[in-house]
Amino acid sequence: MQVEPFTFSSFMTNCYLCHDAGEAVLVDASCETTDEQRQVQALIEELDLEVVHLLLTHAHVDHIFGCHFFEEQYDMRFAAHEAARPFIERAEEQATAFGVQVTPPSVPTTWLGEGDTVSFGNTTLEVLHTPGHSPDSISFVDRASQQALTGDVLFQNSIGRTQGLPQTSRDQLLRSITDKLLPLGDECTIYPGHGPQTTIGRERQQNPFVREAVKQ
Ligand SMILES: [Zn+2]
Ligand SMILES: [Zn+2]
Repeated sequence: MQVEPFTFSSFMTNCYLCHDAGEAVLVDASCETTDEQRQVQALIEELDLEVVHLLLTHAHVDHIFGCHFFEEQYDMRFAAHEAARPFIERAEEQATAFGVQVTPPSVPTTWLGEGDTVSFGNTTLEVLHTPGHSPDSISFVDRASQQALTGDVLFQNSIGRTQGLPQTSRDQLLRSITDKLLPLGDECTIYPGHGPQTTIGRERQQNPFVREAVKQ
């Protein structure tokens, strides 16, 4: 699996185009402006990819800005965790709360939970439910290439926010990291929802929040 990263909007939210053998999935269509949406589309065309899934790590408004645009462009499955439903249905309310605007996406056609898989090309992504930052947080793991897309759970030197957002739990977030992400192994590359890519090994050794959580 090849991972092409983009960072979009004033939230600096990462969007990932993951592809393998001509097929692709788009993880978190965070592109807010027409220009940002066209950047992703241009790469899809340049690499001659067939986009087969639009996936959400969670449905906070900064991760869904571009969903509507891509739903109109491609014949693909739209998948998220079922707890994303109220967040998607209230997309405009979420946007207003942050002083931005969003064209609401449709409700996903596929609900994903722990242990489900998503396949494209020769890649199979395994779904881990990693709540805490939001109830619908899921991570997508490619065990074959040791890469994982983890949304707003674990960042380089930091962790997902659990204050000022609905249905968060810091304890649950730390458990998601220690019980679900750390077992992926030190070599596993992490593509987070914000900031640069990192590895489990780096965060295990250097991330103060992870070090604290492991001690407990
Ligand atoms: Zn978030
Ligand atoms: Zn985010």
